[in-house]
Amino acid sequence: MTDRMQVALVGIGKIAVDQHVPAIKASTDWTLAATVSRSGTVPGVESFTTIEAMLAARPDIPVVSLALPPVPRFAYAKAALDAGRHVMLEKPPGATLAEIHALQDLAAMQGLTLYATWHSRMAQAVAPAKAWLQGKAVTRAHITWREDVRKWHPGQDWVFEPGGMGVFDPGINALSILTEILPAPIHLTGATLTFPENRQTPIAAALAFSGNVTADFDWRQEGPQTWDIEVETPQGRLALRMGGNVLELNGKTVSGEAHIMGEYPALYARMADLCRRGQSDVDLAPMVHVADAMTLGRRDVTAAFNF
Ligand code: NAP
Repeated sequence: MTDRMQVALVGIGKIAVDQHVPAIKASTDWTLAATVSRSGTVPGVESFTTIEAMLAARPDIPVVSLALPPVPRFAYAKAALDAGRHVMLEKPPGATLAEIHALQDLAAMQGLTLYATWHSRMAQAVAPAKAWLQGKAVTRAHITWREDVRKWHPGQDWVFEPGGMGVFDPGINALSILTEILPAPIHLTGATLTFPENRQTPIAAALAFSGNVTADFDWRQEGPQTWDIEVETPQGRLALRMGGNVLELNGKTVSGEAHIMGEYPALYARMADLCRRGQSDVDLAPMVHVADAMTLGRRDVTAAFNF
């Protein structure tokens, strides 16, 4: 690949440093041309503290990748699209569905690429799981997504503020996989959401969907972490473990290894392809389920949570 594209990365925080910067630097499609962050920087890369300053100073950068939390993201995405730049959104793609519809309209009007990424869909066993389930009837499915918020979001109070989504911040990853692999759509039929008494978003959620599909999300799990999706069909049982990285069929591991992180390189390869083709990719199905759970969910209150 010879035509590297320049990208500006916005929100130099945990995921930008852990995944976006290494993925961009390792890619032959991309050059990290600038960063925007109020305090974060990447050594050797031109940095700005506001998106407006970056857009004004660097009209040569055609792509903006937003690794901010969901609530502030819309204003940044709109500014980038208004300035004629293609935009890549971290998951969840925004704070509300209507925001993302507005961005879709704006991108379409401007003839720009908008990519709402779902990194878990790029986990290596997701595509083989989808292929195995194609044409099969699903008789039951269950998600168990239990992790330790203190380990994965140390001190990130925004996850417990309105729009931070609480346990749905990881749970939406499971839903992004489920909505990718199931052969037919499902819809939420009930939910119980557990809120710490001092917080605005749930720390645990139990969901029920049509088609005998259920989900158990919990952010209080210490010790071993669980990111499993189990699916039953008349032809046998499928399980995705380790967040979509390991595929089991009828109890036997058939592909994948734990801890292989090719997800962000795959997202940037997809963005390069979308930009070259002049296409967008915005699938809101995972976020519709979260919005429905917030709409239909029963509220339980549990002990206060502090980092
Ligand atoms: P983070 O470290 O708390 O935030 C990222 C950066 O965004 C911060 O360093 C901050 O940079 C900027 N920011 C935060 N609040 C802002 C605000 N109100 N206005 C403007 N800028 C603000 O969060 P993160 O863990 O990287 O998560 C960011 C996104 O990536 C989320 O949507 C999350 O779901 C997703 N994600 C996270 C992980 C993970 O393991 N953490 C994994 C996959 C995806 P400055 O203060 O320098 O401006």
